Amino acid sequence: MGKQLYAVIGLGRFGTSVAERLYDAGQEVMGIDINEERVQDAEMVVTHAVVADTTEEEALMSIGIRNFDAVIVAIGNDMQSSILTVLLLKELGVKKVIAKALSKNHGLLLDKIGADWIIYPERDMGERVAHQLLSPNVLNF
Ligand code: ATP
Repeated sequence: MGKQLYAVIGLGRFGTSVAERLYDAGQEVMGIDINEERVQDAEMVVTHAVVADTTEEEALMSIGIRNFDAVIVAIGNDMQSSILTVLLLKELGVKKVIAKALSKNHGLLLDKIGADWIIYPERDMGERVAHQLLSPNVLNF
């Protein structure tokens, strides 16, 4: 796979982990957060990090969000910001929007407004752990 351009919105533990892994794999990664401290902390593990409120259309436009191959919305607790951000991204024509949901209802709403891939971090990780424990030939912990 060639170099892809990713944006990660929300630089908490989940967003930073996704961003860092992509960057380590040689991809172009822009980290975005409304919180300046979070942006500063992430600066070393992404290509660029910027402070922006992604619920504002102009902020997304000035970042040039349309040019990204995929945008990961890692805002969870602030459901309103998560939903508004995903809505704007889809309206602006971003092809692949991946979003984190913290509840079933949050996920349902994200699905309705067009998120392409919805991640439930706790549920998905729980499934992965059970899967690992059940696989007969894996003892990697
Ligand atoms: P994690 O569980 O991944 O550690 P968290 O506990 O910090 O995340 P979340 O509420 O999911 O909590 O927030 C993730 C990040 O999203 C935070 O750093 C927050 O500042 C950022 N964020 C929230 N609203 C916006 C917004 N409107 N624009 C940009 N970033 C935002």
